[in-house]
Amino acid sequence: MADTTLMDKLVSLCKRRGFVFQSSEIYGGLGSVWDYGPLGVALKRNVKDRWWSAMVQARDDIEGLDAAILMHPRVWEASGHVSGFTDPLVDCRQCKNRFRADDPRIKGTPGQPDAQCPVCGTRGSLTEPRMFNLMFRTFMGPVEDSASVVYLRPETAQGIYVNYLNVLQSSRQRIPFGIAQIGKAFRNEITPGNFIFRTREFEQMEMQFFVEPGTDGEWFERWREWRMEWHRALGLNPAKLQWHQHSGSELAHYAKAAFDVQYEFPFGWQEIEGIHNRGDFDLGRHQEYSGKKLEYFDQGQNRRYLPYIVETSAGADRVTLTLLVDAYREEQVEGETRVVLGLHPAVAPIKAGVFPLVKKDGMPELATTLYHELRKQIACFYDDSGAIGRRYRRMDEAGTPFGITVDGETLSQRTVTVRHRDSMQQERVALDQVAGYIKEKVSGER
Ligand code: ATP
Repeated sequence: MADTTLMDKLVSLCKRRGFVFQSSEIYGGLGSVWDYGPLGVALKRNVKDRWWSAMVQARDDIEGLDAAILMHPRVWEASGHVSGFTDPLVDCRQCKNRFRADDPRIKGTPGQPDAQCPVCGTRGSLTEPRMFNLMFRTFMGPVEDSASVVYLRPETAQGIYVNYLNVLQSSRQRIPFGIAQIGKAFRNEITPGNFIFRTREFEQMEMQFFVEPGTDGEWFERWREWRMEWHRALGLNPAKLQWHQHSGSELAHYAKAAFDVQYEFPFGWQEIEGIHNRGDFDLGRHQEYSGKKLEYFDQGQNRRYLPYIVETSAGADRVTLTLLVDAYREEQVEGETRVVLGLHPAVAPIKAGVFPLVKKDGMPELATTLYHELRKQIACFYDDSGAIGRRYRRMDEAGTPFGITVDGETLSQRTVTVRHRDSMQQERVALDQVAGYIKEKVSGER
């Protein structure tokens, strides 16, 4: 399967089955903004739940936060977003890198055929310079003047930094500790695209870990390991995951070290999460701009210091896309093409389909009772329309790992057929044990 075709097929499956729709489609759509349909919202929610459970629920040293999208405009001055993103920028259409127009590495004049991209080396791929700020601006209150300008946050991290003392004091945590947050972020990307990979409105899952200076290197390595493990546990093909280290000009001036978790998409290796050793840059800047002391008092050592920060920053939409790309496959079965989303059962939007084999002989009644019982515990779906083979195929496309069929033997033997999505093998399981059986399979490792 050619790679572009794979993306086209995925986009079409996502629409057909209700994973992802184009925003405002009946009006022609809105560029790089997407809506999640019934299956998509369930899939993305499962991603976020798994992240929250690994980062907050399972740990004593991380607290949760849900900061507002709108923040004091000074926050974005302190963070560098106001000044950092208002320069003339040029884009490379080939490798999608973005540069300041005055980047000394650019040879030739951007916008002209002679200009050469400093990263991929392509000639003529650089756009004309454009004044560009990545942040969406709006106005607070009734007057549209500069005093009332506010921004839609371009990252969730700043909400964590400005609340770090509030969380520290109210939770009675001590360093080292972290704050985790999931929320929307907005960037007026100039080179958006690749479906939900790069969008103008997206969700981030970010965690900032506050550590004593000098211990940041060790924590950075630990977090790298834990985060890669988390991605692997989603069932992703390990051969398609790799580290990419930022070096040279790629490394932000304040960052001590930065690594991206990359996945091999049909359009190349791309970042799905960044792990950054940010030093004391963020708290230092907020201390300077707010005039408030943000130091931590270490009682044991009887000294004050500004903690260093190790950040893990993942995109919920990108991880969702990664799961979809990784899971998509086509197989030839009895002369027909079977489209399957081989999603890990733990993230699959629907865990089990419940089907009466035929609409008679008491099968629908029994299947409905089973369905009502099951759905108290797991996400499942009842379907009694069409041939059983078609119903299985629909569930294959939705990524549903199990199909439970109530048939003649259910009535006589009190057993059901459980069909496995990947192998298409069928086995008989006692009616009164099927709920426990599915639950165990869904929560356990693959
Ligand atoms: P990129 O280089 O791809 O633009 P970035 O380095 O700007 O990403 P960060 O600022 O480190 O990204 O953001 C952390 C995470 O947020 C990324 O790893 C990605 O998963 C997600 N993310 C960032 N920008 C977008 C976007 N426009 N659409 C979807 N997800 C995004």
